[in-house]
Amino acid sequence: MPTPEMPTTSSVMGFPVHLFDDYVAWLRLRNQEKKGAHVVTLNPEIIMQAQENQSFAEILENAELVIPDGVGIVFYLWLRRLQIQRCPGIELAQSMLEVAGTAPDNWSVFFFGAKPGVAAKAAESWQQKFPNLNLAGTEHGYITPEGEEKLLATLTQLQPRLILVGLGVPRQEFWIAQHRHLCPEAIWIGVGGSFDIWAGTKVRAPLWLQKLQMEWAYRLYQEPWRWRRMLVLPKFAWKAIITLGH
Ligand code: UDP
Repeated sequence: MPTPEMPTTSSVMGFPVHLFDDYVAWLRLRNQEKKGAHVVTLNPEIIMQAQENQSFAEILENAELVIPDGVGIVFYLWLRRLQIQRCPGIELAQSMLEVAGTAPDNWSVFFFGAKPGVAAKAAESWQQKFPNLNLAGTEHGYITPEGEEKLLATLTQLQPRLILVGLGVPRQEFWIAQHRHLCPEAIWIGVGGSFDIWAGTKVRAPLWLQKLQMEWAYRLYQEPWRWRRMLVLPKFAWKAIITLGH
């Protein structure tokens, strides 16, 4: 495997985003070197929240890898004459699971988050796809404080190499930042609602909508309660336009 370079860092409203052709290769190397990483899947909602919350902003600044997940990020950079490819977090997580399930180094993986039963079902479907996947364990995202203590002890003991955390934004980013020292060699990725999709409790937008960069519209159609959260999208777009040239 050729040695992947460090990702180029660009900035979206003052927050870093790493632009690189092959995030998987970079993470594989990172994992081989046992360096660990926190991966944040950047979208306009995250940016707008981080602008209001200093601790969240610091988490973004300290994450080793921030990928351009949202179409708003692509739009912001496009306005600034930088054409980049969107990298949806769910796809990066899938590629990492594929590597974990097929690579000779066979890292162990842990799924944490979503409603009871969902992460376990998602893990089961991945294990069917990759029987060699080394599954360290799963835990749902609505555990009690005692359950969480137990989970932290389990993670410390098992030292999984790929830890997917699906608690939603910004809970998952705070949770990872707070606990990643327990497994310093692991790749930690905040995966939002990915477990729901892998378990089949929710479906991703059809490919044609994804290609039209309209995945957000399908989410709104599926989960209309998101409308309030999604109001940040036009706000972000407006801000992206009026700060051009600054
Ligand atoms: N979730 C969880 N614990 C909580 C709150 C949410 O495990 O206390 C899960 C929820 O069940 C869902 C995911 O977090 O699986 C959030 O998904 P969403 O698509 O809303 O993520 P976001 O858009 O915030 O990335």
